[in-house]
Amino acid sequence: MIEPRNIADTLRLAIERLQESGSETPELDAQVLLKTVLQCERSYFYTWPERVIEQVDAEAFEAFLQMREKGIPIAHILGNREFWSLDLHVNATTLIPRPDTEILVETALELTTKLSANVLELGTGTGAIALALASERGNWKITAVDVVPEAVQLAKQNVLRHEMTHVTVMLSSWFTNISAQEFDLIVSNPPYIDADDIHLQQGDVRFEPHSALVAGERGLADLRHIIRESVAYLATGGWLIVEHGADQAVAVQSIFTEHHYNQIHTRQDYANLDRVTCG
Ligand code: GLN
Repeated sequence: MIEPRNIADTLRLAIERLQESGSETPELDAQVLLKTVLQCERSYFYTWPERVIEQVDAEAFEAFLQMREKGIPIAHILGNREFWSLDLHVNATTLIPRPDTEILVETALELTTKLSANVLELGTGTGAIALALASERGNWKITAVDVVPEAVQLAKQNVLRHEMTHVTVMLSSWFTNISAQEFDLIVSNPPYIDADDIHLQQGDVRFEPHSALVAGERGLADLRHIIRESVAYLATGGWLIVEHGADQAVAVQSIFTEHHYNQIHTRQDYANLDRVTCG
């Protein structure tokens, strides 16, 4: 039995607990979890701060709170994350889609002007990038691959959820199951973090699979593989766009140059950090 409390007190106590457990966004976390339990909008909290929460809801909220106190990402607790205004199923088998990656989607939409393009996404995870592109371009034929069977399952669920029949998801280790064909656009957000990066010991990334985050050669190994292999799969005038770390732009550009790409350039994310390179 949880002591009966109103909304304002419940939120206040939850925020204190989340602050202590090290969340960087205690207020947002508490509100998102409570609004999920109560199935309401956040504005409800300000309209009805005195409303006493029912026991069954208080228990559900307490269970969520305890998970968050252990550091479990909000996206894993809810099983959901929004990307490009699309609600996506999320679980611990893939990377949680990041807002930073929306710059990759924007860049792809801007550079590929063809109405009916043939598109490939390598390492799709939840399917976020493929689905964002599909939601904007109903005539693109999009193939999304991942090497992790559970990720393929998850991406397929998300494709069904949004009824994006022009997206095909399949199992492939980068290009291994891709038959010879020409793509107008290849996109990827591959693993690019160095295994020794301290960033891996903090926050949500601790609960995400290393296979989606970490790459050899100081994070450049998979980027190198993708940039090299894509040459054989790009149509004339086609674009390769890859996401990478903020300090990898120079190295990534030089790999593009080594493989004779042209119009090579890097773009910044909303935090003004180098985030995607195209060629
Ligand atoms: N941008 C993510 C992070 O810094 C990593 C994404 C990736 O490795 N592809 O947590």
